[in-house]
Amino acid sequence: MKVPQAMPWIGEDEYRAIADCFRDAWITEGPKAAVFRAQLLELTGARQGVFAPNGTLALYLALRALEIGPGDEVLIPDLTFVASANAVQMAGATPVFVDVDPRHFQMTAHAVERWITPRTRALMPVHLWGTVAVMEPILELASRRGLLVIEDAAQAIGVRRNGRHAGTFGHVGAFSFFADKSLTTAEGGFVVTGDETIAERLEVLRNQGRRKAGTFVHAQVGYNFRFTDIQAAIGLVQLAKLPETRRRKLENLERYRSWLADVPQVVCFEPPAGSEWIPFRAPLLCERAGELMEHLRRHDIEPRSWFCPLHLQPCYAALAAGQIADAAPAELFPNAHRAYDLGVLLPVFPTLSAEQIEHVCRTIRAFYGRR
Ligand SMILES: *Cc1c(COP(=O)(O)O)cnc(C)c1O
Repeated sequence: MKVPQAMPWIGEDEYRAIADCFRDAWITEGPKAAVFRAQLLELTGARQGVFAPNGTLALYLALRALEIGPGDEVLIPDLTFVASANAVQMAGATPVFVDVDPRHFQMTAHAVERWITPRTRALMPVHLWGTVAVMEPILELASRRGLLVIEDAAQAIGVRRNGRHAGTFGHVGAFSFFADKSLTTAEGGFVVTGDETIAERLEVLRNQGRRKAGTFVHAQVGYNFRFTDIQAAIGLVQLAKLPETRRRKLENLERYRSWLADVPQVVCFEPPAGSEWIPFRAPLLCERAGELMEHLRRHDIEPRSWFCPLHLQPCYAALAAGQIADAAPAELFPNAHRAYDLGVLLPVFPTLSAEQIEHVCRTIRAFYGRR
């Protein structure tokens, strides 16, 4: 029995929805995108939002709209997908890596404080594994130190903290609709803000430096960050399915939990108190994680490790060396290290079967010598 890491839940409904685009001969960003945008604003409670071609460019657009660039430092959690840092780099600013907390593996105000310099412009908390980070102390710190807050909510569409949607706590929030996220449009991104000035800058930057198409006079330099109605058609179907996606993913997670409850070598990641959870994957902390993943692969199961900490990335080695100076990295980033040592991601996608989960769990149990 093969068990892949992730599979989009797409089918006939999405297929029929894109056929409409062909019938109406409207394929680029148009009426379906307008409806999808309105529904995303309703879901998130955000005042304004624009599409981007993907989550990475959504973050880039957000940074540019906040006028963050060369000479500026942006503090980001050491444990995140590399795109968080790449977007900062692409905007010409400098990412600075901050260790995560030991329980939920996300940014904390406490860990951020020591890295603030006169060049620090913004904090970029990342909502990990489909939860929402503990935002209140981060917002409090940002406002006290005059910093901007960009939320990487790529994995957190549909997820709230104490009733408030991910991405709507800070100045801007960015979502991804990549194929392995809880809502997919194949590729795609969305940037939200509650600030009219930032919204205006987002619009102008993504639209070749003007507010609306229909003129060839451009007040400033901008880019093409358009989305397509084909993607929006898929997105509308996916959005209607999101409650069921959430239900199925949580059910799958619960199956792992009950199968593995009596295996002391395996601990399930817990969301921060107050956060909902639409699991991106089943994130586990496992003894001998490397060997376990080898064992799973031999049984046709595709596990993943957690993210490789940014300061360990070959592409950020030089930058990290400058930041770390002569400290020992394991002492500066102990929690990110621990997450990378022990972290295993297992699939929870909506079409995963109970039999597949049983196969994964029996294989894990056997690895630790349990029946
Ligand atoms: C997926 C993801 C991104 C990037 O989104 P893309 O659409 O793949 O560009 C950024 N940050 C995090 C945390 C992600 O999971």
